[in-house]
Amino acid sequence: MSFIDVVEQYEDFDVDGFLGQVTDRDVERALAKEKMEPMDFLALLSPTAAGHLEPMAQKARRLTVQYFGRTIQLFIPLYISNYCSNQCLYCGFNRTHAIERKTLTLEEIECEAQAIASTGMQHLLLLTGESLQATPMDYLEAAVRLLKRYFASVSIEIFPLDKADYRRLKTAGADGLTLYQETYDRSVYRQVHLAGRKADYRNRLDAPERGARAGFRAVNIGPLVGLGEKRHDVFMCGLHARYLDDRFLETEIGLSLPRINPAEGGYQPAHPADDRAFVQFLLALRLFMPRSALTVSTRERAGFRDRLIHLGVTRLSAGSCTGVGGYARPAERKTAQFEISDQRSVAQVAQAIAAQGYQPVYKDWDLIA
Ligand code: SF4
Repeated sequence: MSFIDVVEQYEDFDVDGFLGQVTDRDVERALAKEKMEPMDFLALLSPTAAGHLEPMAQKARRLTVQYFGRTIQLFIPLYISNYCSNQCLYCGFNRTHAIERKTLTLEEIECEAQAIASTGMQHLLLLTGESLQATPMDYLEAAVRLLKRYFASVSIEIFPLDKADYRRLKTAGADGLTLYQETYDRSVYRQVHLAGRKADYRNRLDAPERGARAGFRAVNIGPLVGLGEKRHDVFMCGLHARYLDDRFLETEIGLSLPRINPAEGGYQPAHPADDRAFVQFLLALRLFMPRSALTVSTRERAGFRDRLIHLGVTRLSAGSCTGVGGYARPAERKTAQFEISDQRSVAQVAQAIAAQGYQPVYKDWDLIA
């Protein structure tokens, strides 16, 4: 079995018809449950549930404190290449965009690592575009080995690999995998991924499972909110998380809801989510997957992120730069993948977390082996 079977099962299901018939009583019943079933989760994503945000928030807060304490883990992204052979309509690294392209040398990666490590950050997320020529496996493996000398945790957010290559990077020291499906709607997926390997929906859909089989400690998934019909995508993402969680008991399954921000090319999302809808979706995910990490990136505004701390979020990125080589040399920030909304430094984000009564966590585990 693969998650594609679940996708196909729900392609024939009238999601909108269900959402339109959800009553207040259905929402209250879902909220009262210890373990929610998929239809309870869908009820919490409905327009009717938008009138129940306060009780949803109270339960989400209680569950989050129960499983995570009052802690927020911090991490920082590091882009090491913006070469890409794909043509995703919503991305600044799209191969048709005339931006300056760069792949960091290992020496340059080390300069970035030193600049980042000086902020106290210990959880690093390594990112690339999708170009096997610019960032082959040997290079990625060497980059992970190098970064492990500076950080307690190195996760990867790169193009989908097969299980053997995931295992290579895990052996090199990577412990986490982030891979967003972008949209679970196959026809929208085709419309926004015009060319390159990323156009293969199934290859991407199965990659988180391959990563879990390869032994990554944490696997993080999500839709890019705005591409497909948002309630459908959040629903399928929740089911995907539950699918992985049920099968890989030793893997920490995490979720994120990145919202589309302007990038090179000015893509306008067909299904934008306002703040209220975004909060509802986060709460619904927390209630459906109480033990899953929930990440909110610097795509979101500073004050908004601070408020989300009380609503189920457990991981925040901070001090982010989405250009290649921009930590050691700020002039390189011009080739960003997308715009950052929360421009605060690592220390400022940590202060804001503490001001909310939570503890910022720079390092929450150690690999013993
Ligand atoms: S989203 Fe990823 S694969 Fe698509 S153009 Fe951007 S970097 Fe390339």
